[in-house]
Amino acid sequence: MLSVAEALRAVLDHAQPLPPRRVPLADALGGVLAEAVTADRDLPPFDKALLDGFAVRSADLEGDGPFDLEVIEEITAGRVPRKTIGPGQCSAIMTGAPMPDGADAVVMVEDSTRAGDRVTLSPRKPVAPNSGRLTKGREMREGETLLGPGDELNPVRLGLLASVGWATPQVVPRPAVAIVSTGDEIVPPDQAPGPGQIRNSNATMLDALVRASNAESVVAPIAPDEPDRLREILAEGLTRDVMLITGGVSAGKLDLVPGTLEALGVTAVFHKIRLKPGKPLLFGIGPNRPDGTPGTLVFGLPGNPVSGVVGFLLFVAPALRALRGLEPGPAATITARLARPFSHRGDRPTYFPARLGEGLVVDPLNWAGSADLRTVAMADGFAAFEAGDRDHDADTPVPFLPLPRIDP
Ligand code: AMP
Ligand code: MG
Repeated sequence: MLSVAEALRAVLDHAQPLPPRRVPLADALGGVLAEAVTADRDLPPFDKALLDGFAVRSADLEGDGPFDLEVIEEITAGRVPRKTIGPGQCSAIMTGAPMPDGADAVVMVEDSTRAGDRVTLSPRKPVAPNSGRLTKGREMREGETLLGPGDELNPVRLGLLASVGWATPQVVPRPAVAIVSTGDEIVPPDQAPGPGQIRNSNATMLDALVRASNAESVVAPIAPDEPDRLREILAEGLTRDVMLITGGVSAGKLDLVPGTLEALGVTAVFHKIRLKPGKPLLFGIGPNRPDGTPGTLVFGLPGNPVSGVVGFLLFVAPALRALRGLEPGPAATITARLARPFSHRGDRPTYFPARLGEGLVVDPLNWAGSADLRTVAMADGFAAFEAGDRDHDADTPVPFLPLPRIDP
């Protein structure tokens, strides 16, 4: 049986960045740039006013005010000024409008009293050259490189691309992930389970984990433990970049997933890991796809929901990063200290749901095992314990695998 680290290496050996393609900005969130983005012009393209007020010559406003000036023009955003400001003159100007020649500062409207074509300015602070004005090219220069290959497109960067007219960036796209839940006992969340049945918590959870990882998810219909229908649903999943299957991968009588995947041409890379929860995890590679893209990365996660989360965080999330062309990075990067003594019993490394408190103090919860999702819903992540029976003292350092957070 592989260790977690060996299994992760095997997964990443098969997770190559997806081929880049051009996508409209509206579809580019979470994409990773595959080209350099440059400025198509200076920004701002002209000296512009940063406030509503009066464009003035700062030299006219030396010493103590108030200052009485002639207003020679009204300049609104989108208009081009026609008049040059001479001594004793100013123009009314709005935020974003081009500065008129002769003016080098803007005094805010709140510091003015207007009467026809005259204005009295009483600035609260001395008016220095450039105050209230953004000079041409201050934000960027034409031809300057702004972002490059490997940069993730977050909302602000998408705004930046829009500002330079980069409307269809070349990106490594978000991977497409099929989510297949298997099991005769599984019913959708909006149905009342009959005798022996259980609601499908995995599909909702994995769908959200996938989307939180900047990938697209496609949730398949629930697959019964029946060979033909299961085969049909798994075959459809093999058209995506990744397929996550839950249930049916262990040694039960109706655990049909491994055999069906084999029949569909999926090459198993490993099946079973020294890990708790999540030992029966299966990983394989689908056949090359008709469009020439590499075979689907197939993860068969055990049906118990907590096994699914842990398997996702340890193996699927790094694989998705690699497909997006990013450094996968180790999953458990935080080292925390036990809040209290904790005894761990077991022959496999164990990821134990825990709360993370102030100062990276970790408090393992009262967990009932891999079917107990409720306790994990109260957790911040998982404390990792090595195999073996050990009594840990308070303050013992332990690696911590965080659950994703949704707030930025
Ligand atoms: P299996 O891996 O198919 O043997 O399933 C292991 C356990 O997980 C069984 O108790 C299943 O009922 C449960 N299970 C399987 N799939 C799901 C699911 N989609 N949502 C919630 N529980 C599940
Ligand atoms: Mg099952």
